[in-house]
Amino acid sequence: MSFQNPVFIPGPTNMPEVLRKAVDMPTLDHRSPLFGQILHPALAGVKKVLKSETATIFVFPSTGTGGWETALTNTLSAGDKVLAARNGMFSQRWIDMCQRHGLKVEIVETPWGAGLPADRYEEILTDDKGHEIKVVLATHNETATGVRSDIKAVRRALDAANHPAMLFVDGVSSIGSMDFRMDEWGVDIAVTGSQKGFMLPAGLAIVGFSPKAMAALETAKLPRTFFDVRDMAKGYANNAYPYTPAVGLLNGLKMASDMLLAEGLENVFARHHRIASGVRAAVDAWGLKLCAQSPDLYSDTVSAIRTPEGFNATSIVTRAADAYGVAFGVGLGEVAGKVFRIGHLGSLTDVMMLSGIATVEMVMVDLGLDIKLGSGVAAAQQVYRTSLPAAAKAAA
Ligand SMILES: *Cc1c(COP(=O)(O)O)cnc(C)c1O
Repeated sequence: MSFQNPVFIPGPTNMPEVLRKAVDMPTLDHRSPLFGQILHPALAGVKKVLKSETATIFVFPSTGTGGWETALTNTLSAGDKVLAARNGMFSQRWIDMCQRHGLKVEIVETPWGAGLPADRYEEILTDDKGHEIKVVLATHNETATGVRSDIKAVRRALDAANHPAMLFVDGVSSIGSMDFRMDEWGVDIAVTGSQKGFMLPAGLAIVGFSPKAMAALETAKLPRTFFDVRDMAKGYANNAYPYTPAVGLLNGLKMASDMLLAEGLENVFARHHRIASGVRAAVDAWGLKLCAQSPDLYSDTVSAIRTPEGFNATSIVTRAADAYGVAFGVGLGEVAGKVFRIGHLGSLTDVMMLSGIATVEMVMVDLGLDIKLGSGVAAAQQVYRTSLPAAAKAAA
């Protein structure tokens, strides 16, 4: 077993040394002003990463899934209707959570590999004359299929239908890695976790509430205690939590936001796009296809790669771990055994990515697939050497 190798799973992601150190903190009194010096900059950093001027940020000791629960329970009441498409494992799990909370979910069945059906949303919202639908749920990046949907188009659908429903976006595998504009896209609640774009260990649910979502707190009747943002807001006002905060992780979150903002969000997105383009060039050179149906849907944080009919895609993941000590993602749900996933988000460089592509090649040859060693690496090398960021080009 080697901990030297980077992981290529779509979360948790590789941790930069500086963030690992930031998380490793001595005990401090979480009811002292010292804690406020960690908490408030962390919240302010997240707000910038979400590109919001107006959001209220809440951070819970939890994970992305707890962020969903925070969004739903603070804004809705049993029997309320929500609209959601099912196009992968994560959208499916969010739908399941809604149903367990007694919400009525209007589900738009969507092929795995397709994006969110904004046109269909517009029709449904236009037909909903009584405004029964309270929320539209949107998974920005379906981590199971490597599909990034167009959130701006979902907002346009709401506006075209002149519908007052709120828009909740799962940005767990997009925020901090791909363009996300909370205010501009009219997102009412944005949800993420600490272990993907923020490059930290798992342990934090991170949510941003728009003023409209904050107003919904007053009418929402779903039971909530741990995830009640009103208690959290009262705590924050006193530099504290309603319970014990994960101080080290919050310190890490402050540093992670600083790191992303210092690199520049647009540069972070460009880096992810470049690295992903190299992976896609490799997939093409191997003669394989992505699960995502068309280039406009290709995710810059994760690629789900289809393997030939009759081949068990999971064996690639198993072999890579056993033989080479490198982690890739298995297929989930409907595409289990049909795809394997390469995560390419977080703290990653071109050179790290080349090692992942080289590993997949060795594994596929080991398992008898008709792949030429070096073919994907060469394709990715060509992408990387011809798309260097401006600073690197100048130095050359
Ligand atoms: C990882 C992920 C989640 C789940 O987050 P947890 O932190 O594991 O609870 C939800 N949605 C998407 C899109 C994800 O990628």
